[in-house]
Amino acid sequence: MITASMLYNFIRCPHRVAMDLFENPALKDPVNPFVQLLWERGNCFEEEVITGLDVPYTDLHLYYGEEKKRRTMDAIARGDELIYGGRITAGDLAGEPDILRKQGSAGYVAGDIKSGAGEEGGSEENDGKPKKHYAAQLALYKDILERSGFAAGRTPFIWDVHGREVTYDLDAPQGPRNPRSLWNEYETALETVRLLVSRTELTLPAYGSECKLCHWYTACRRRLKESDDLTLIPELGRTRRNTMMSYFPTIGDLAHADLESFIRGNKTDFRGVGPDMLRKFHKRAELQKQPGARPYLKDKLHLPEADRELFFDIETDPMRDICYLHGFVERSNGDNRTERYIAFLASEPSEGEEERQFAGAWDYIKSSRPCVIYYYSAYERTVWRMLRKKYPRVMSADEVEDLFDPGRSVDLYHHVIRPKTEWPTHDFSIKTLASYLGFSWRDSNPSGAASIEWYHRWTESGDPDIRQRILDYNEDDCTAMRVLLEGVRKLRVKDG
Ligand code: SF4
Repeated sequence: MITASMLYNFIRCPHRVAMDLFENPALKDPVNPFVQLLWERGNCFEEEVITGLDVPYTDLHLYYGEEKKRRTMDAIARGDELIYGGRITAGDLAGEPDILRKQGSAGYVAGDIKSGAGEEGGSEENDGKPKKHYAAQLALYKDILERSGFAAGRTPFIWDVHGREVTYDLDAPQGPRNPRSLWNEYETALETVRLLVSRTELTLPAYGSECKLCHWYTACRRRLKESDDLTLIPELGRTRRNTMMSYFPTIGDLAHADLESFIRGNKTDFRGVGPDMLRKFHKRAELQKQPGARPYLKDKLHLPEADRELFFDIETDPMRDICYLHGFVERSNGDNRTERYIAFLASEPSEGEEERQFAGAWDYIKSSRPCVIYYYSAYERTVWRMLRKKYPRVMSADEVEDLFDPGRSVDLYHHVIRPKTEWPTHDFSIKTLASYLGFSWRDSNPSGAASIEWYHRWTESGDPDIRQRILDYNEDDCTAMRVLLEGVRKLRVKDG
C-alpha cells in the first residue's frame, strides 16, 4: 500500500522511499535524538489538542490495521461529526488522517495535527506558502475520500502549533510563475512512488540537506563516496546530477572533461545548467580531485572595517516557532585574546521571554557600535525581520534593515564564501569549512537540531549542565565564523 508517510518522505528525498522498502534494515543509523524529539512532541501535541476539544469525537487512535479501518467505516456510515485517528483506504492507497470532520451532509474533509507551523517560514521567498510534504499527505487523504465517495470539498486542513486551522487549497496554482497546483504535484509524486514500489524506477542517493537527519545517512554517504557521485560537489544537487550523469558519471569524469565541447554560446547540453554554472562545477570537481588542493579566492575581498567585530548566531525551535538564543562572540582590534561571549537565552519558550531576549540582543548591538557584524546565511536577518514584525516596540523596520546593511554586516555565506571562494569540500556549511580549517567544536554532537533537543530538555528539567551545553555549542558556532573569516583572509586569489 502507498501511505501518507511514503509521500512525505518522497517529497523530502525519493531515494528514502526505496531505501525504506528494500534496503537491509540493519544498515540503518540509530534514530537521531532530534527526530525522536519530533515524534514525541508530535504525539504530545496531538494529545493536548484532542483532549482540549470541546466537541464530541470518535476516538480510534488506539486501533490498528483492519480493525481501525472497519471502525472508521462504521463511524462514517453513522455520520459521526469528528473522527480521531481513523484509517481509510482505496485501491493501493492507505491513509490515517488525524482528523476526519463531517462537512454538512456532503461528506468528510481530512486534516492532520502538526506540532509546527502549518505553513512555510524561515525564508523570505517561502514565507506563508503551503508545506509541500504536508500537502502530499493531505492530497492522499482527499484522493481516498473521493474514490470512496465520502469527500466534501477539496480543502483539507492542518491544525498547527499556533492553534490555527490552515486550509490547503490543492487546486490553486502555486504562484504567478508556477501554474502547477499542489494536486498536480501529488499526482506526479504518487505516480513515481508507484514506480518505486514496483521497482520499475530506480533511484540513487543524492547528498543534500535532508541527509544528516536521515537514518540512511551512513549507508548513503558510503555509497556516494564509492561511486564518486556528482552530488558531492557543493550545490550541484540531485536534479543537475541526473541531467549530467550520462556524460559525467563521476566527479573524476567531470574533472577531466573537455568542458567547452558541451558549451554552445550561452547554453550547454544540460538543461538548467548554464555555461558559467558548468564551469564552476568543473572547477569544483578539479579541486576535489587534485591531491593536496587548497581553497582559494576567486576575487579580491573587500570587507567593512571596525575595531570591534561581533560574530552572531541564533538558535530557533521550529516546533514551538520561537527564537530562543541570540549569541555573540565579540572581538576587539582583531585580537583573539579579547574575545568574550555574550548570550541572550530565553529561560522559557514563551513569547514574553522571546521578546525580552530579542530586545536584550538589540540593546547589546547598539551599545557595541561602531562594529561589524558577521553571520552565516540569511537566516539571522530573516528571523530578526520576523521578530521585528512580531514585537514592533523593540525596533523599527528601518533599524532592522540598517542593521543588516552590507556596509555594517556581512553574511559570510552569501557575501563571501559562495561568490568569492572555492573549497575542496563536499559542502559549504560552517561546520565543514571551519573543521577543514582545523577548528573543532567542544561538543561531540554539534548541530542546530541537537541544540533544539537540549533546549527542550533544559526547559523541562532546569539542568544547568544542559544549559551550558546549549551555550557552549552556540559560542563555538560564533567562534567558527571568526576562524572562517581569518581563514578566508589568508587565501590567495587564483586567476581564471
Ligand atoms: S541519506 Fe540522503 S540520499 Fe540517503 S535516503 Fe536519506 S535523505 Fe535520501
